Amino acid sequence: AFSAEMGLDIRERVRLLQALRQAVESERLFVVYQPQVNLISGEVVGVEALIRWRNDDGTFVPPDRFIPLAEASGMIVAIGDWVLRVSCHELVRLQAMGLPNLRMSVNVSQIQFRHPEFLDKLNAALLDTGINPKCLELEITESVAMEDPAFILETLHMVRELGISIAIDDFGTGYSSLSHLRQLPIDRLKIDRAFVTELSQEVSGGHIASMVIELGRNLKLTVIAEGIEEESQAQTLLRLGCHEGQGYLYAKPLTAVQLKEWLQTRAEHL
Ligand code: C2E
Ligand code: MG
Ligand code: MG
Repeated sequence: AFSAEMGLDIRERVRLLQALRQAVESERLFVVYQPQVNLISGEVVGVEALIRWRNDDGTFVPPDRFIPLAEASGMIVAIGDWVLRVSCHELVRLQAMGLPNLRMSVNVSQIQFRHPEFLDKLNAALLDTGINPKCLELEITESVAMEDPAFILETLHMVRELGISIAIDDFGTGYSSLSHLRQLPIDRLKIDRAFVTELSQEVSGGHIASMVIELGRNLKLTVIAEGIEEESQAQTLLRLGCHEGQGYLYAKPLTAVQLKEWLQTRAEHL
């Protein structure tokens, strides 16, 4: 089913998988960080870690293309653990720059989340880097949060016991059971980019975004919007009661070096 989904035939999949193995070995994977801002104050509240794969010729293989393959092959467990460690180390450096409360959001795949060693690895990353667990947030997608409710509930509780917070990514794209959602120990809903884009369209725009924000209010969850590209979208989100966002309007995902420059320039202008 995944080959059809990805539009790749077997040969193409095998080739890509070999290339991914080589990319891991030759360290062609790296992590970029996209700022998350408070929409009222403009303050940077966090960054989301996003993986990148650069080919020798300088072109990129998009995560949407290789993450499913990394999941199907099990490589995502090692890759995800690496992203977690790299991001936690980067958080230490960023916080030392004078942003002591900065939050790091890390995407966690379903396969990684279900791996028997997941919690041990999470704990090890905390201990090795010494970060404040309160500044670490894991993003799991809505579909993951809704599958196998008993297992998810238990795992999320254990993640929360470590002090780590949890965001539901791509919220609004799945079919959440509201009674299940209400039971989950989560902190944040992340409005999917599609519903932010919709805010600029005149007709019936913003319905889903406003429903998610309302839901967040009722469940006492923070709501963050992703994919904000226009000032008008930010204004509408603010008016609807969403106070955090990320998107090209503020910054594209940046390398660690670019992010430091971006943060410095921004601090000078505030
Ligand atoms: P996501 O977690 O929902 O990440 C948001 C995606 O939207 C990112 O794409 C980001 O670059 C893009 N984006 C941010 N702002 C804007 C905007 O204003 N306009 C537009 N058009 N796009 C924007 P990216 O980096 O290509 O990642 C795609 C997906 O791949 C992510 O979606 C996430 O599901 C997955 N992914 C990325 N890194 C990791 C990782 O380390 N682990 C796992 N498991 N998944 C990852
Ligand atoms: Mg995400
Ligand atoms: Mg998302």
